[in-house]
Amino acid sequence: MIPASGSYRLANARVHRSLTPGLAAPFDADGFALVELTVADGKIASVVAHAGSKAQAEAVDLAGRIVLPCFVDCHTHIDKGHIWPRKPNPDGTFMGALNAAGADRAARWSAEDVARRMDFSLRSAYAHGTKAVRTHLDSVPPQEEISWPVFEAMREKWRGRIDLQAACLLGIEGVRDKAWFERLAKRVAAAKGVLGVVTYMVPDLEELLDQVFAQAIEHGLDLDFHADETDDLAAVSLKKIAEASLWNGFEGNILVGHCCSLARQPDLEVLDTLDKVAKARLAVVSLPMCNLYLQDRRNNGTTPRWRGVTLLHEMKARGIKVAVASDNTRDPFYAYGDLDMLEVYRMATRILHFDHPVGDWPRAVAATPAEVMRLDGAGTLAAGGNADFIVFKGRSWTELLSRPESDRIVVREGRAIERQLPDYAELDELMVE
Ligand SMILES: [Zn+2]
Repeated sequence: MIPASGSYRLANARVHRSLTPGLAAPFDADGFALVELTVADGKIASVVAHAGSKAQAEAVDLAGRIVLPCFVDCHTHIDKGHIWPRKPNPDGTFMGALNAAGADRAARWSAEDVARRMDFSLRSAYAHGTKAVRTHLDSVPPQEEISWPVFEAMREKWRGRIDLQAACLLGIEGVRDKAWFERLAKRVAAAKGVLGVVTYMVPDLEELLDQVFAQAIEHGLDLDFHADETDDLAAVSLKKIAEASLWNGFEGNILVGHCCSLARQPDLEVLDTLDKVAKARLAVVSLPMCNLYLQDRRNNGTTPRWRGVTLLHEMKARGIKVAVASDNTRDPFYAYGDLDMLEVYRMATRILHFDHPVGDWPRAVAATPAEVMRLDGAGTLAAGGNADFIVFKGRSWTELLSRPESDRIVVREGRAIERQLPDYAELDELMVE
């Protein structure tokens, strides 16, 4: 369907208002418009509303199929991915996940093991239509010395297909070893990475956050936090991060993931936190599939009663940048997943009510995470940008989000790619005891 020449016109392409900046077109109630999309030399030459219903001669008629820009996945853990067969979560809880993943890391994460699982994950993401991925890298000693070189090599290997970014991952208590943390920040800076920690409500949280911000400022790094992945009402580290950003005068980008406990807190507490998050210009990413899996896990014969996700609607209404992302894939934190951002969006639509109206929620898997990751122009369809997009079978939200769309066409720099999902059997030899 997509001409191999790399230069063509696609007629009757259905595009969404939230992902086609500047397009003047009659949009329908779902935010869609039919356009003619012209591609030349791997770039989008123009996106123009159809004047009439008739496609111009020699254009490929997409007959109203939805075309979205390639996805941006801003929160993943591809260093952990696919270890489930050798290290399952014994009870589906967060503590079960932490302990299992930690034991597997200590025992098994050689450079080769990490590299092969990472590459497997990236092949899946690429085949599903993702063009940029940020992964966290477990960076507790001695893993940081193993995983960061693997990341640097993997980023080179995938350059031009997936923009790969990495953030270090360690519990905030690791920052207490000041000399070690300074060395880590330097290593992250050398790899052009992002500085990340997991915040807990430790007594010295504010001092430790100040050290994190000080290192980020010293090395010019963006920040990426895991915060409040719990139903504990006392977990308010999202607010602490916003306050620390304000009093440190931080000017880089900050992305905060999870923030689950916020959804359990009283309104006055929530409003105060959201005011500070907006003022500090924090961006928030929700991980709906992992939150649904880990939060409110009971193991006592009773049924979960809440969805685990944070308050994305309230955040977006205040102008806070919000995204959704994959998080873990087939590891103790989440038994499933394949880095398919259409699945993430489909699940987010159900879990977080990204519908009726859809509004600009599609930005949460494309344009917004691209801004947070400083990927200029990614996640949108606009003249002058790379012709990186996905052609679906669906012609409406209900068609798009009801089937897996396994036959979607992924176009990169104007050409349809071969969409080959890696075979699980490839990893079998890494899974033996
Ligand atoms: Zn995570």
